[in-house]
Amino acid sequence: MDSIKKFNTIIVGQGIAGSLLAYMLHRKKIPFLLIDPSSQSTASQIAAGMFTPLSGKRKTIHPLSLQQIPFAINVYKEISKLIGYNILHVTNIYQLFDSVEEQSQIQSKFLEPSFAPYIRSISKFLSGTNNKNGAYEVTHSGWVNCESWMKYFKIWLKSNGRLLEAKFVYTDLKINEDKMEYNGLEFKNIFFCEGYKAINNPFFNEIIIPCKGDVLIIATEHFTTDQIIKKNGIYLVPSQSNSFKVGATYQWNNDSETPDQADKVLIEGQLKNMLMNPYNVINHQSAIRPTTHNREVIARQHHHHKGMYMFNGLGTKGVLQGPWWADRLVELYMNSKY
Ligand SMILES: Cc1cc2nc3c(=O)[nH]c(=O)nc-3n(C[C@H](O)[C@H](O)[C@H](O)COP(=O)(O)OP(=O)(O)OC[C@H]3O[C@@H](n4cnc5c(N)ncnc54)[C@H](O)[C@@H]3O)c2cc1C
Repeated sequence: MDSIKKFNTIIVGQGIAGSLLAYMLHRKKIPFLLIDPSSQSTASQIAAGMFTPLSGKRKTIHPLSLQQIPFAINVYKEISKLIGYNILHVTNIYQLFDSVEEQSQIQSKFLEPSFAPYIRSISKFLSGTNNKNGAYEVTHSGWVNCESWMKYFKIWLKSNGRLLEAKFVYTDLKINEDKMEYNGLEFKNIFFCEGYKAINNPFFNEIIIPCKGDVLIIATEHFTTDQIIKKNGIYLVPSQSNSFKVGATYQWNNDSETPDQADKVLIEGQLKNMLMNPYNVINHQSAIRPTTHNREVIARQHHHHKGMYMFNGLGTKGVLQGPWWADRLVELYMNSKY
């Protein structure tokens, strides 16, 4: 009996969702233990980490995104301080027009009051890019270095005794009236944050749609920028010196974690339409995003087991939406009578 370790809360999964929840609990001084098997190539490790107020092909601006951006920036500043490594890069997006039609469609938005603070025309073009149709800039944007965030956050968890490197086995969980038990651990609350692998979670019947995405890491000596560049659905995000992350593809209902040659061909085809100079592909990565119908984030308490929560469905926008919903879920948990 003495060997039982007691925690207030368990978190399952150390992706963007689990890491943000862990940070929010730490901020409220709530003791927790995070369980994660340290798998390679999760969505959170390979994500380009971009955030922007513009959404989708039709370039809409959702009012909630405008609240989420400053909130997220603040949280990423705090996390950078905690882990001793700057993960946040606030930078404009240099968006190349793919066609004359796209150019006139966007230019008509420059003067609209709801768009004007977020997009602006530019006259000085970035050399080395194919800007025959011109370009514009998207402000209030940037990227988070998710790979380093996951790595250094794990080190922080470990050094504070808050990480158990293991896969959580659902059938080993014992649910009692006032507490739960799992392999020598006793706790009152559990947050499930397993990304697309929540399709195996027997406690929640939320529908998670796996969406495979491939990215390339390229190196080039002919081109340098600290801005994000976008054209015709693909992006180029600065990575290490002289290297960039380029992507991404979207294959819904595909949960194969193997990089796909057809996706590489697709990305390179579009990249050649963006960059004028040669480059080398130095890596090809792939992972599965957890998406949902209607793109709704799942941040909720179990209807019957009140100590059980799920945080998932961050989809294609984990970096932007994650901090906001993690904060709201922790509020819900703090206000729960359970
Ligand atoms: C190619 C690509 C590019 C992307 N680019 C961007 C971008 O630019 N901007 C953006 O905002 N978003 C981007 N995303 C989306 C973003 O990656 C996701 O929204 C986010 O990573 C989802 O985080 P998550 O924590 O829910 O899931 P995951 O990253 O999948 O993390 C889940 C964690 O849970 C663990 N786990 C699973 N099952 C168990 C278990 N039984 N026991 C213990 N642990 C378990 C896993 O090992 C993993 O560590 C991109 C995704 C991809 C694939």
